[in-house]
Amino acid sequence: MTTRSHVFPRHCHAELPTAVGGDGCYLIDQSGKRYFDGSGGAAVSCLGHSNARVREAIKEQVDQLAFAHTGFFTSDPAEELATMLIDKAPGDLDRVYFVSGGSEAVEAAIKLARQYHLERGDVNRRHLIARRQSYHGNTLGALSAGGNEWRRRQFAPLLVEMSHIAPCYEYAERDAGESLADYGQRVAQELEAEILRLGPDSVMAFIAEPVVGATLGAVPAVPGYFKRVREICDQYGVLLILDEVMCGMGRTGHLFACDADGVAPDILCIAKGLGAGYQPIGAMLCSNTIYDTIAGGSGFFQHGHTYIGHPVAAAAGRAVVRELLEQDLISRVQTQGAKVEAALRDRFGQHAHVGDIRGRGLFWGLELVEDRSEKRPFAPEQGLAGKLKKAAFHAGLICYPMPGTRDGRRGDHILLAPPFILEDSDIAFMIDCLSQALGEVL
Ligand code: PLP
Repeated sequence: MTTRSHVFPRHCHAELPTAVGGDGCYLIDQSGKRYFDGSGGAAVSCLGHSNARVREAIKEQVDQLAFAHTGFFTSDPAEELATMLIDKAPGDLDRVYFVSGGSEAVEAAIKLARQYHLERGDVNRRHLIARRQSYHGNTLGALSAGGNEWRRRQFAPLLVEMSHIAPCYEYAERDAGESLADYGQRVAQELEAEILRLGPDSVMAFIAEPVVGATLGAVPAVPGYFKRVREICDQYGVLLILDEVMCGMGRTGHLFACDADGVAPDILCIAKGLGAGYQPIGAMLCSNTIYDTIAGGSGFFQHGHTYIGHPVAAAAGRAVVRELLEQDLISRVQTQGAKVEAALRDRFGQHAHVGDIRGRGLFWGLELVEDRSEKRPFAPEQGLAGKLKKAAFHAGLICYPMPGTRDGRRGDHILLAPPFILEDSDIAFMIDCLSQALGEVL
C-alpha cells in the first residue's frame, strides 16, 4: 500500500500483508504468497475460501432482496435456515434468533434467560454463573460472562458482576490419582456449590463452552461432566446455555458439539462456522418452553439489532448448512480429524515442550510447557505463542495463538481449526510448517 492507512487495526504496530484472494484452504496476499488457513481465522472458514455454492447463494439473494427489517418482514432464507437448524438440533430447541456474530448470540442468550424468568414471575433470578478460562465475546455483557482475565482486566469497572467456577481442564487441574470420572463430578459439583452459595432462587443460568476454544485451546470436558451439569441445572431451575460459537457447526465432528456429550441445553449459541466467513451471522437457539413462556406472556423479546435475520447472511448460512449436510462434511471432519490427531501425536507427542495435545474433530490445541513432567508453563513475558504464530505465518501457515496466563495456571497454546475440505497433503503441510516454526522458536 502506498498511502497512509486509516484503518484502525487490532495491533497498531503490526505490518500486515493485504489479503487479496482465497483459494480452497489457502489465503493469498498481494505478493502472491499463499498461506494455509490452519485455524480458519479463529475457527470460521470451515468450507475454505472459495466455495462456489455459497458465493452463488449470496449473489442470488442480493439480486432478489438485500435487506428487509425484521420489525416488518420475515424472509425465506431466514425461515428455511431456522428449520434446517431445528431439524438437527438437540433436545427441544425449537426457535432460532438470528444475529450477526458470536458476542451478539451470547448477549441475546443472557437477556433471554433473564426475561424468561421475569415472565414466569421469578423476578429474583438474576445471577449468571460462568467458568474461569472461558471466552464468550467482547461486548460488555459477554465479556462479563467470560473468564479470560487478560481480556477483562482493564474493562472491569464496566463489567457486570458474575460468578466464575472452575473449567473442566483435565490436563492442568485433575489431581494425581483422581479418575477422569471423579474429576468431572468434582468440578461439576462446583456449580451446585455456587448455586447454593448465591441462593438457588437467585440464579438464572449457567453458561459454558462444550469444547473451550479461544481461552484454553480446544479442551473438551471429561465424560460425564456435562450430564452432571445438566442434572444440577434441572434440580435448581437454572437454565443451561451452551456457547458453541467456536466449537459448533460440525467443527468437532458433530453438527452441534454438545451431541458428543449427550446433553441438550435450554439455549444454544452458534456463529463462526454458520456463515463460514462468507457472511457475518450467528444465532441463538432456544427451547420451546422458553419461547412459549414469552409468547404467552408479554409476547415480545425485549432485544434486537438492526441486522438481525439479515436475508443475505441467512442465505449464506442456508447454503453453508446445505454444503455440510449434502457433502457429508461432518463425516469428513471425523476422518480428516483422526488423521490430524495421529499426525500431531506422531510428530509432537514426544516433543520436550509440547505438554498436551487435545481436541475433537478438526479442532486441536497444543499446550506448550517449559517442563513436561511438572507441566510448568513458559513465562508469559517470553511471548511464545505470538512468536510461534509469526514463525508459522512466515512458513505459510495460519494458526491461532493464545498467550499463557500471568498466574501460570495455563501455558501458551496454539489452536488448529482447518477447513473441513482439507486433503491429506494439506495435513502434511500444516504439520511440517508447525514443526519448522516450533524448531525456530524453541
Ligand atoms: N463465544 C465463543 C466461544 C467464542 O470463541 C467467540 C469468539 O471467538 C465468541 C463467543 C464471540 O464471537 P464474535 O467474535 O463473533 O463476537
